[in-house]
Amino acid sequence: MKLFNCQNCGSLLFFENRRCETCGALLGYLPEQATISALGGDGDRLAAMAAGGAAVRLCANAERDACNWLVDADGAESYCAACRHNRIIPEIASERTLVLWRRLELAKHRLFYSLIRLRIPLPNRNDDPVGGLAFDFLDEVPGGPKILTGHESGLITINVQEADDAHREEMRHRMHETYRTLLGHFRHEVGHWIWDRLVRDGGRLDAFRALFGDERADYAQALARHYADGPAPDWQDRTISAYATSHPWEDFAETWAHYLHIMDTLETANAFGIGVRPVVPHAAGLDVTVAIDPYRAPGMDAVIDQWVPLVFAVNSLNRSMGLADLYPFVITEPVRDKLAFIHAMVHERPA
Ligand SMILES: [Zn+2]
Ligand SMILES: [Zn+2]
Ligand SMILES: [Zn+2]
Repeated sequence: MKLFNCQNCGSLLFFENRRCETCGALLGYLPEQATISALGGDGDRLAAMAAGGAAVRLCANAERDACNWLVDADGAESYCAACRHNRIIPEIASERTLVLWRRLELAKHRLFYSLIRLRIPLPNRNDDPVGGLAFDFLDEVPGGPKILTGHESGLITINVQEADDAHREEMRHRMHETYRTLLGHFRHEVGHWIWDRLVRDGGRLDAFRALFGDERADYAQALARHYADGPAPDWQDRTISAYATSHPWEDFAETWAHYLHIMDTLETANAFGIGVRPVVPHAAGLDVTVAIDPYRAPGMDAVIDQWVPLVFAVNSLNRSMGLADLYPFVITEPVRDKLAFIHAMVHERPA
């Protein structure tokens, strides 16, 4: 994630800011320019200082403090580029549900930040009723059906309870996972949709199968086997997570999620000018100054060569605070090849 500045006073701003703490200016995010803008005026017609005073208004979800993105004041859309993909949001019957929904929106907006930076076309269900990208945020009600987080032809379902830290942590233990976050869910599930669009419909099935395996293997059987027998003992040699061994589709979605983890985190490190220079002998390979816009990197090797020393240092920082590792994963050669496939695929598409 980039850092931003207030156009009114120059102060440092973050992606989620709604108001400048220094000068009090109202703020909004311009997705096409990928920047936060100070806003002049008030009401439904605001002037975006980062866009030459262009007339904008806040997304309709700003009303419930669930979005800080902007839309064209003269356009027909009342929802922003991220929120117009919402099909169902939870019924806001309590303060608790509102809090959980806001957490979902924070994660979803970070997802869309990356997808837009990668210039991935993002049709919603109006643009493409069969395969457009849409979200159902469904809450479990007592006696009602179990809600499973998952993906089906562009429709992503997220169990709202995943935004509850205690629930999610319990699930993480039960599933023997080292990492489980809302943002991770969004990145993983959208990976299945990316597979439909860019691999299956993008003429890349042969190249995909050579790296990830044959996705024509029975999916339901594969998952049942995974949950009954656990992952293959040597999974770490081939995949980024244990779950990724369950089926080539899951391997792709997991690897895609990691691709976005790396893009976002490395961009943040770059924005802060972070460098790592261990002061012990024989650590030359771990010297790095993060100086790369990963979204525009010519190849994945340059990205991973900066990523590995960075997470080595940040994992160590976390351990000093008694926290879990920031990045509890190992990138082996086969995983590197899969990430390179994804990076090339994203950058090969016509602009
Ligand atoms: Zn300001
Ligand atoms: Zn919005
Ligand atoms: Zn999946």
